Amino acid sequence: MIYAFPQYFTSKSRFLTYHLVASVLRKAGHTITDDVDHCDAVLVSMCDVMDYPQLVKLRRMTKRPIIVGGHYAFNYWSAKLYSDFVWIGEIWDFAKCKTLDEIGESKHCYTGMAKQLFASQYIDWASIPVGQIAPKKCYYLGGVGCKNACRFCFTSWTHRHQTNTQQRIEQARQLCRRKKMHLMVVSNEYDAGERGGKTLDILLTDYVKRPVKASMVRMGIEFAQEDTRKRMGKAIPGELLCHAIQKANADNLALRLFHIAGYEPVSAWDTYMDNFAKIFSQYPNNRIVHFMFNNLQYQNYTPLYDERKQINPEYYIDITKTRQWYDTLRQQSRSVLVGAPSPFQHVAARMGIELSEAREQVDFWLTKINNAAKKMTVPDAYKSLFDTGVMDCKKRRLKKSTGEIMVGERNG
Ligand code: SF4
Repeated sequence: MIYAFPQYFTSKSRFLTYHLVASVLRKAGHTITDDVDHCDAVLVSMCDVMDYPQLVKLRRMTKRPIIVGGHYAFNYWSAKLYSDFVWIGEIWDFAKCKTLDEIGESKHCYTGMAKQLFASQYIDWASIPVGQIAPKKCYYLGGVGCKNACRFCFTSWTHRHQTNTQQRIEQARQLCRRKKMHLMVVSNEYDAGERGGKTLDILLTDYVKRPVKASMVRMGIEFAQEDTRKRMGKAIPGELLCHAIQKANADNLALRLFHIAGYEPVSAWDTYMDNFAKIFSQYPNNRIVHFMFNNLQYQNYTPLYDERKQINPEYYIDITKTRQWYDTLRQQSRSVLVGAPSPFQHVAARMGIELSEAREQVDFWLTKINNAAKKMTVPDAYKSLFDTGVMDCKKRRLKKSTGEIMVGERNG
């Protein structure tokens, strides 16, 4: 087959995905071109909802069939609105198909016809290339999915947890060392080892227990209250927050802490930040502690999606709140940052596109996605979520053992 894959030729970001897709397709005998008019089909790899405008643009550019893949393809009902085929899951089964008919008939492909869908989960780990993305930097796929299953996490509920072998990862490391390149191993796994490196992603519960070599440690605390964290699958006892700051001081490293606002009352976050102000007053930090915030997006497949209709805009925060917290923390520490999340209106637009099952729904939300806060008030955005009908998008559940996608509200 001749596939046009314009992202592979033009994009400077997410090169790993495009490189991997192109490499697997070429190995299977297909040809990759950037000519969207002279090909059997045009491929679009969508990572998330922000790639949707690119899909719309391509739809206008070419009359050739468009095939969407990538992480976003799990939202196949939405991706199909501007494409002809949506391939759900990994690339290797796709590469085996020799014709468009074969692709369309596959149980991994959504064409708009009712059929039982299965995510393609087969990964030929031995065929993963070491992708060079910069003069001195390479990427290598170490795993997909996650052994945790946090209730809000789209990745972990759409992928069976699979990992590359340690032997192959080590070989990739050696290869890069010989070429004097830095290797990033991409996975959701938390590397709690002592290999060292500049930035380390690790569970806070692991970090407080063991020595690490890093200049920055990134950890998801996610929610303000201990019982919420526990319910969501990130059980971090409150006292460990203080331990983590003490240990970061002793290790002389910076921390980046990730949080999800929008689920708990803002007063719970005020208490959370006051607690950190107290910790900093007792254990002054020299290196930066960076508090990062996202506002919650209810995503299909996740258990949290069942609660989408209880979405409460009053729980969502914006830069006014993060500035206030910054001022509170700054009274105790000079080395803090507090990052503001996208506002409620933007989250609503993201949800709107992702949950759209009809052209008029997605077209409405596409007009709102950029500068959403300038185009909608918070009450308007909230009302539109219900008025456009996107909140009625049926729950999907992935059976991780087989890839089967089940449709229905019951949580499995
Ligand atoms: S949020 Fe992080 S730890 Fe939780 S399931 Fe997702 S990737 Fe794993």
